[in-house]
Amino acid sequence: MLLSCASDDNESNENFSDSQSNNQSEELIFSNTEILNTDVKCEEFDTHVYCISKSAQVAKKYPKWGTLTGYSPEVFCSTDLPLLVCTETTKSLLAAMMEWGSYGNAEYWIIGSDKTAAKNLTDLNCQRRKEKDQMRLEDCEWKHGPNGDHGFESYRLIGEESIKTNQPSGSAGLNGDRGWGFHYFTSSIPIGLTDYFPYIEPWQEQKLAFHEYFHAFQHSFIETEDYDIRDKLLGPVWFNEGGAEYMAHIGFKKSFDEGILSTPIKEDTTNPYDFKEAMRNKLEYAKMSKKEVCPNLDIGDMSYQNDCNGASYDLGTWAHILLESKTTMPNLLVDKFYPILEENGWEEAFNKTYGISPKEFYSEFNQFINQSTDDQLKLLDKIFENYNLN
Ligand SMILES: [Zn+2]
Repeated sequence: MLLSCASDDNESNENFSDSQSNNQSEELIFSNTEILNTDVKCEEFDTHVYCISKSAQVAKKYPKWGTLTGYSPEVFCSTDLPLLVCTETTKSLLAAMMEWGSYGNAEYWIIGSDKTAAKNLTDLNCQRRKEKDQMRLEDCEWKHGPNGDHGFESYRLIGEESIKTNQPSGSAGLNGDRGWGFHYFTSSIPIGLTDYFPYIEPWQEQKLAFHEYFHAFQHSFIETEDYDIRDKLLGPVWFNEGGAEYMAHIGFKKSFDEGILSTPIKEDTTNPYDFKEAMRNKLEYAKMSKKEVCPNLDIGDMSYQNDCNGASYDLGTWAHILLESKTTMPNLLVDKFYPILEENGWEEAFNKTYGISPKEFYSEFNQFINQSTDDQLKLLDKIFENYNLN
């Protein structure tokens, strides 16, 4: 099964409109930046479903990049999807924002498998991009057509293919451009929230929304619009994706413990969410892949293209567990690392946060990953303690 976050979850480098998009951004003052609950309000139109927070405001103007705003995310869903897809994704995004703060504003687009519904969503999206001077209409339509990269049609096809072949798969990504000034997400059908695959757990999709929003959090701490510099600052794949995956599980687990989120009941699912079980599965998959696919590849040398059969995400998750288990502090990424990232650069920020160089850490991690699973799993007790998890 593939439930992934697209590898281009940063600004795609493409030919969008030449207009200056930051002319919409100005200094706005935010007094109440807290998202207080996960109550959602949804409207069902002929062309799409639109969900937002019941209490938090929707942005009318784009704030300065990286500002903590407390804005509601805007979620746009294809009409061929059950309403639950839209409500639960919005709730998960709100819960993630309660955890890490709502930075800037965010649009989350969920594409089903139906062609007409996808066309309606494309029209709506391109109208918005045009109105906000972010893309020319023809560029937007091309992007979301059959030849576009990470456009709506490519996400629609993932869903269609998955249903047709009865192979569960899905993908989501942070696909906007830094110059647009907001966080722009795209997702194929979150199959765990539908009846297409009764055995896929709804929590996988809730957790995915946390993962995606964590990418927005990471990007919020990088001001520069230079694509290459941004890419370098995000660090290696294990760090960037492993960090999003690790924090997604932490954030989701906390929301769960605190009763902020619950998992919708699906008839055939048997496994409720269990943090330790999820981490054990990742560890076992990561160790197996490392042994069979990339025995000599350091996590530091993995890339989106050379990712040890996708194990870089899971190895990265465990690398973050190892890093945090050495301290008594939770939230090192959120509270320490990202706030000092841009001024220090990735390597130096890593050094300052963890008190060790990346190179030293890689050799430590190589030793760690060869230990017995029982010994490795012991680190989770430390994480539970640090985060005060149940
Ligand atoms: Zn990701």
